[in-house]
Amino acid sequence: MERVDCVVIGAGVVGLAVARAMALAGREVLVLEAESAIGSGTSSRNSEVIHAGIYYPQGSLKARLCVAGRDALYAFCESHGVPYRRCGKLIVATDESQLAGLDQLQAHAQANGVHDLQRLDVDQIKVLEPQLNAVAGLLSPSTGIVHSHALMLALQGDAQTAGALLALRAPVSAIEATATGLRVDVGGDEPMALLATCVINCAGHAAPWIAGYTRGLAAKSVPPRYFAKGSYFSLATSTPFRHLVYPLPEPGGLGVHLTLDLGGQARFGPDVEWVDSLDYTMNESRAGGFYAAIRRYWPGLPDGALQPAYTGIRPKISGPDEAAADFRIDGPAEHGIAGLVNLFGIESPGLTAALAIADEVCLRLAQDARAG
Ligand SMILES: Cc1cc2nc3c(=O)[nH]c(=O)nc-3n(C[C@H](O)[C@H](O)[C@H](O)COP(=O)(O)OP(=O)(O)OC[C@H]3O[C@@H](n4cnc5c(N)ncnc54)[C@H](O)[C@@H]3O)c2cc1C
Repeated sequence: MERVDCVVIGAGVVGLAVARAMALAGREVLVLEAESAIGSGTSSRNSEVIHAGIYYPQGSLKARLCVAGRDALYAFCESHGVPYRRCGKLIVATDESQLAGLDQLQAHAQANGVHDLQRLDVDQIKVLEPQLNAVAGLLSPSTGIVHSHALMLALQGDAQTAGALLALRAPVSAIEATATGLRVDVGGDEPMALLATCVINCAGHAAPWIAGYTRGLAAKSVPPRYFAKGSYFSLATSTPFRHLVYPLPEPGGLGVHLTLDLGGQARFGPDVEWVDSLDYTMNESRAGGFYAAIRRYWPGLPDGALQPAYTGIRPKISGPDEAAADFRIDGPAEHGIAGLVNLFGIESPGLTAALAIADEVCLRLAQDARAG
């Protein structure tokens, strides 16, 4: 059986960031990706927003890694020529009943280390975005947008320059903790078995499933899987907006918001639809709900202006009636298997946080090595 130092499962933005960090730390890295291209999962089905870190529970991994990841991501984009724009975003209260929610969000952001939020009154909002219906708002100057595929290519480039190898069409089919290391069985075109010192499971939606067939891992270390689909509609006309625009958050997501891509095209979404499987089919009948939600903050949205765009599915580990789960980074300290790290529930802000998640994985493995 061939020996490798580190196996990273999954070449989404998180797996590529982890591979890069491990390779830059001098480790031998092999990335195993089931599909025939990098980034074909959740990493290419999102809003491409660099989040400031406003929303997440204080002290959570999401809060900490979003703030650290955001700063690291801006620096990485700048140094690697990845297209991005620090366009800022407005979170708006559309009537007086939402003002308390806006206050709470501002206090929450402050506690999370997001210190640059600015409270705006109706006149200040009108200056920034004349078409918005809002009684008050928060401006987040450190929110931005990024070209997610260019980001992944840059991460891959760094990882490979530092010696990492990438195998496509290489689905991991079994893992076993043995006395000499972690056995990884790979299917696909060229089935093989590897013996690894460490395995980092960055398989997104499939991560709990892979954990479920890891021999030696206790059932309590395998979270359930839930799928919360989000649909996007793009704006057929040119956009009157220069900032991203968000309503106050709603259960399961951030509310139907307006984001911009780097070409200036506006899109709206994602909404929240709990589904049973990974089915990315666009359900155009959801447009009705979009018109209603968007017109609360943009009454001027013309009839017929929304075009079906794409969907994404949040890799949830908590169900619709539960509090939203935090990112789960389960290392040896959590499950007791040397060298194994499982990443679960890496939904938003996982794109923003990817570089910080990678640092956290390296830290957990270094602690494991010292303890061993
Ligand atoms: C609708 C939506 C909007 C979002 N918007 C934002 C946003 O604006 N900003 C933000 O910061 N975050 C956002 N996110 C979150 C962000 O997109 C994710 O956190 C991030 O892309 C997760 O990356 P990943 O690498 O963990 O997963 P993925 O991109 O899903 O990658 C997992 C990879 O593992 C591979 N794989 C699966 N099984 C196997 C196997 N057995 N063997 C080998 N490989 C395997 C898959 O093919 C895939 O390539 C959003 C998410 C959604 C769903």
